[in-house]
Amino acid sequence: MKYIFVTGGVVSSLGKGLAAASIGTLLEHRGLKVTLQKFDPYLNVDPGTMSPFQHGEVYVLDDGAETDLDLGHYERFTNCVLTKFNNLTSGQVFENVIKRERRGDYLGKTVQFIPHVTDEIKKRLNELTERNPDVNVIITEIGGTVGDIEGHLFLEALRQFSLEVGRENVCFIHVTLLPLIRAAGEIKTKPTQQSVAKLREIGIQPDIIICRTEHELDEDNRRKIAMFCNVEAKNVVAFRDVEHSIYECPLDLRRDKIDRLVVDRLGIESPTPDLADWEHFVENLLHPKHQVNIAVVGKYIELQDAYKSIYESLIHAGVHWSTKVNIVRVDSETINATNAAEIIGDVEGILIPGGFGDRGIEGKILTARYARESGIPFLGICLGMQVATIEYARNVCGLTGANSTEFDKSSPHPVICLQEEQKGISDLGATMRLGSCESIVFAGTKASELYRGAERIRERHRHRYEFNSDYQDQIQEAGLIISSVSADEGLVEIVELPTHPFFVAAQFHPEFQSRPNKQHPLFAGFIKAALDMKPAVPA
Ligand code: GLN
Repeated sequence: MKYIFVTGGVVSSLGKGLAAASIGTLLEHRGLKVTLQKFDPYLNVDPGTMSPFQHGEVYVLDDGAETDLDLGHYERFTNCVLTKFNNLTSGQVFENVIKRERRGDYLGKTVQFIPHVTDEIKKRLNELTERNPDVNVIITEIGGTVGDIEGHLFLEALRQFSLEVGRENVCFIHVTLLPLIRAAGEIKTKPTQQSVAKLREIGIQPDIIICRTEHELDEDNRRKIAMFCNVEAKNVVAFRDVEHSIYECPLDLRRDKIDRLVVDRLGIESPTPDLADWEHFVENLLHPKHQVNIAVVGKYIELQDAYKSIYESLIHAGVHWSTKVNIVRVDSETINATNAAEIIGDVEGILIPGGFGDRGIEGKILTARYARESGIPFLGICLGMQVATIEYARNVCGLTGANSTEFDKSSPHPVICLQEEQKGISDLGATMRLGSCESIVFAGTKASELYRGAERIRERHRHRYEFNSDYQDQIQEAGLIISSVSADEGLVEIVELPTHPFFVAAQFHPEFQSRPNKQHPLFAGFIKAALDMKPAVPA
């Protein structure tokens, strides 16, 4: 097994995750099998309990692990299917160490940061190695910035690990920033020099330095960084701000042949990558033939990262139909009983994403109503499906006061409520219905058409509340059709309105399974319906 460790310096938000994912893309296109993992130095056991304001979207894996959104980039940029072993936090590390100490596993020793905590970190690398016997390269991204107190133990563990597996099997890549001082008109390399110096203080000499820059990296600066940072000039790679799309990142990093540098460093024989499929996707993305406007009505609208996978899924589906998807972000709190037409009247599609808590909920219910009544294509996801159900119950079935017990415990018509097994759970962490579950799709429905007749599908879940089975018959008879239920318990998975051009809402999260060249059927159908809303308008 070969290992790539990606660290970051100078500032956060450098695109380390995208750099790691892009290296994964390039190595896969060289015929190698890769997997990626993220080490997050914060103390939360997983990001599942963190607000999207803190941390952006929580990305859910097949096995139900609630992980950092960078794992979404990893899965979208490569073919790997990740598991809970691919995201390690300090919270997990310390939880394990303390549990073992209490069990007496340390046989009376003083339990210390080095070696016990660092051993625990290395254990994860070894576990991932054992679990992926067919993988050639494990790429590990270390969250945070070199110099942070909380990241220190992770870096120390990597230093030790690189000696244990042989330095020739490890490639350290450091991602830094080259700021431009406008007044002087100069790109500055000092922050890079200093952050590499910090890394070397710990005993890690990077093999490759990726310099994030708004501009080209000229040869003088390349040589200067090489000299001060003790690497060869060819190993200083520019990572330019991509103009339009994150999917350009692998192609940008390829310009300085990062994949070649990595395989040379690790002594791997592999052919030059054929990136035709990726280039084709980017080409289509950059040159759409049509465009549609899609309103995403949620409560974390101002945050770029909160609905990351949904935005990416819309892009994938758009590329499939040669369509640019213009996302109109709408804060559901701004929608009231009279202004829906004014705010979202001129879009070709309305999407309500997942969410928790009652803030903005009535605006979402009004949005679902507007979509239903106006015939604008509608896609509801998780909470979006729940509000569509509540809206239908209230306004079509006449169930006044219908609600989810998440928002109104004393609702006379709790059409969305807790499953029996959720009652009595008080811990918030990792206790929802999580991960991939199988469901049955009923023939003759829109869902069946979208999934091309598949009778069984697997989708990822992350929710606590469910469509209340007591109301299934009544709501169906009134016209909101249940087109998919879970294979094990018969829980409602998809509802749809046959009388509407496109009104589909799912309890699961389709956005976690959409890939650039494998758009998700629900998103693809939604964008197609949006396109059909109007005569083709050139982009
Ligand atoms: N809050 C809802 C629930 O827990 C929906 C969750 C979601 O949209 N992910 O069921």
